[in-house]
Amino acid sequence: MEGRILVKDRYFVPYIPYERLEKAIDAVAERINHDFKNFDGTPIILCVLNGSILFTGELMKRLNFPCEFTSVRLSSYEGTLSTGVTRKVLGLTSSIKGRTVIVVEDIVDTGKTITDLHALLLDAGAADVKICTMLLKPEVYKKDLKLDYVAMEIENRFIVGFGLDYDQLGRNSKDIYILDSKTEEKTAMKHFLIFGPPGAGKGTQAAKLIDRFGLRHVSTGDLLRREIAAGTSLGLQAKSLIDKGELVPDKVVEGMIASELDQHPDVKGFIFDGFPRTTAQAEHLDAMLAARCQQVDAVLSLMIPDETVFERIRHRAEIENRVDDTKPEIIRNRIATYHGKTEPVISYYKGKGVYREIDGLGSIDEVFDRVSAVMEEYL
Ligand code: 5GP
Ligand code: MG
Repeated sequence: MEGRILVKDRYFVPYIPYERLEKAIDAVAERINHDFKNFDGTPIILCVLNGSILFTGELMKRLNFPCEFTSVRLSSYEGTLSTGVTRKVLGLTSSIKGRTVIVVEDIVDTGKTITDLHALLLDAGAADVKICTMLLKPEVYKKDLKLDYVAMEIENRFIVGFGLDYDQLGRNSKDIYILDSKTEEKTAMKHFLIFGPPGAGKGTQAAKLIDRFGLRHVSTGDLLRREIAAGTSLGLQAKSLIDKGELVPDKVVEGMIASELDQHPDVKGFIFDGFPRTTAQAEHLDAMLAARCQQVDAVLSLMIPDETVFERIRHRAEIENRVDDTKPEIIRNRIATYHGKTEPVISYYKGKGVYREIDGLGSIDEVFDRVSAVMEEYL
């Protein structure tokens, strides 16, 4: 078994050598053989593609009772479901009506996939459905469905090899590898959000922070302006909406952020400013980062009393000679809008344990020292 391997853009280290897998497959095949020794009928071995292709092959050649073979894929999730209604079994060519089916899976994690498939096969008329999985993560498996045959239990970490992929790669490895947490800790990009009411100095602080920590500042406003100036298709879409006086939809903003993430794989991290503004955007950001095995590490919230915000906005409007913006009711309204919009996003991040409040009063340097101290915990 090789030492550390690179699959696409991440390092993995040896976890289960092929010889151990073989032994575990021997043992599970023996149990199935025992249970089906005197079985009246011919069960169907059902391989769940793509992940269990290698496991099914190894298992089948050890089974010594008459059996048929078929394979399926499951359509991915469309919307939310718990019953499996919106998922489909793809490629089921043989009839399973009245038959005993032995489902062969590579890995059971939360158990969503296997419980959906189990229900769908019974719906399709199977008389009995047995489950055989090469691997199980018992810490995360929360379903009541009985897993009849489990070859091996593993901890709750991400693995590749022996049929299992990372972004479609790594399936052809004979041994199983696990994500290298040591390199991950050092190399994983960090993501920070900076929150604060208008006038809190987010932009100023973000500019100083990127200098000090070697991060990239992502302001959605700047991104939009840049895409429009470069005449990209995203930029053109955004421009036509802005020209019509409409809001740029989440999808467009998220598309820009995804491309910003992908264009800068070598930076230490990002500071997001002005995004996410809604819980839906926060969920999408999480999904985008999770797809890259990353996360929001901390939300830095600059705390300023409303009275100070009021004075700062009025002062700024006076300097810039924007008469309308000096009207107290307009300023109050802006402050109320800010709270109303950000409150749900703040509670979302509080729920994730990443929300950090920082006293935003004082000189730029005083605030910078406080924010820096928090960031140093992560970098
Ligand atoms: P579940 O529906 O049980 O949460 O997830 C099952 C599916 O998630 C598997 O069929 C597999 O595609 C994927 N999966 C879960 N854990 C891992 C893992 O550690 N490595 C890989 N490569 N895929 C996994
Ligand atoms: Mg699978």
